[in-house]
Amino acid sequence: MPGFVNCPECGSDDFNRSRLRNIKEKIRHRLFNQSPYRCHECGHRDWVDIKKFKKKITSRQVMLYVFIVILACIIGQIIGSRIN
Ligand SMILES: [Zn+2]
Repeated sequence: MPGFVNCPECGSDDFNRSRLRNIKEKIRHRLFNQSPYRCHECGHRDWVDIKKFKKKITSRQVMLYVFIVILACIIGQIIGSRIN
């Protein structure tokens, strides 16, 4: 299943959060925990579940953080072994 990071219309990853236009959209945002997203490539606008979107970004950020920590450990060991 493709993630919400890409536009469902054209597949572009330039799919960013759009402004809430009116009171109806603000209510929808509050009630259903959804936000409008706009594709800058084709102009498609869609509603996305915030929880799913945030979860996806968070897990990606955690992966990146783990990768950086592992890389720092490896570099630290290489530097440490060269000094000793
Ligand atoms: Zn698009």
